[in-house]
Amino acid sequence: MSDLRVSRITTDIVDLPLIRPHQFANHRITHQAYLLVTVHTDSGICGVGEGVSPGGPWWSGESIEGQQQMVERYFGPALVGHDAGDLSGALSTMDLTAHGNSFAKAAVEMALIDALGRALGVPAHFLLGSGAVRSALPVRWALSARGTDDVVEEARQRRAEGHDSFKLKMGSLDVDEDIRRVLSVVEAVGEDVGWSVDPNAAWDFRTAVWALLELESGGIDLIEQPVDRRDHHAMAAIRERLTRARLMADESVCDPRTALEVMQTRACDAISVKVGKSGGLLRAAATSTIAAAAGASSYGGTALETSLGTAASAHLFAALPEPFLGCELVGPLLLASDITVEPVTYRGGHLIVPEGPGLGVDLDPDAVGRHARR
Ligand code: MG
Repeated sequence: MSDLRVSRITTDIVDLPLIRPHQFANHRITHQAYLLVTVHTDSGICGVGEGVSPGGPWWSGESIEGQQQMVERYFGPALVGHDAGDLSGALSTMDLTAHGNSFAKAAVEMALIDALGRALGVPAHFLLGSGAVRSALPVRWALSARGTDDVVEEARQRRAEGHDSFKLKMGSLDVDEDIRRVLSVVEAVGEDVGWSVDPNAAWDFRTAVWALLELESGGIDLIEQPVDRRDHHAMAAIRERLTRARLMADESVCDPRTALEVMQTRACDAISVKVGKSGGLLRAAATSTIAAAAGASSYGGTALETSLGTAASAHLFAALPEPFLGCELVGPLLLASDITVEPVTYRGGHLIVPEGPGLGVDLDPDAVGRHARR
């Protein structure tokens, strides 16, 4: 179709330092590893994609080393000779090659989209069905897990830059202490901004019910995945007990099929849409379409991507249907070093959707060399 044949696929792993430790419920990281996938075509045009396991393999079960093996040994050889413009065919080929492995598949699909966009001279969001619905994405700032005074100061600084919503990770402390910490930050900064919490499924149902009612009455308006990813009925029961706060599914929804299951159970008001867990941009877009059809909102989630992966997510979220709750694409702002010639642009608390061909950002080979894993 596009006369853009895949000639080979190569990979690199880079380890990038963060500006400060990032705390998940049970993991704390100071560096994040990324898999860079380059699709070479017989036209000479290349595309680059990014795989990531946010915080390590605990979230998805995929490690960065495993993703590299999947691409090098299986997906790459299976796709040599494939038309880079046939994105659905490439996904089918990868599905036939290996079950699961969504983050690795997403990295390859991202590279194919980058190559195709460059060959056609259009930004990636044009390949997702339309021009951009939105050219700038409001960014919810992910606060650190330092002491309350430091977190309040961080929120005030980011608010002055234009961020009008904030997210706090929970689940790493005793629940009472955790609630007191969060509500003291909200009280100090003010309830006239958006507040979300994400315990990363750390709580059982009963803990979640009382904790979330406390948090809701204290000004939290968006609650992300409080309980186990497989327990849609618990999510639905929690949702019934909330009044003003929206309940968002993250770990529970990893592809269009799980989106359908969750929406049939009425288990959430919103879905955190992510490229990696969905197995690529096309399936992430389909997930969002299912959410919208069932009356739920989409939210632009992050896996702490570099400017490369953030650009890919920005193209996707630029094209998602309404209702859209904004995004949390803060990865490049948390990295002390990035891997593109120019980083993605933030302005007034918004991420600007890149307009160049493909993903609209260029890999910096020197930066990749400096951070390459030996
Ligand atoms: Mg989450």
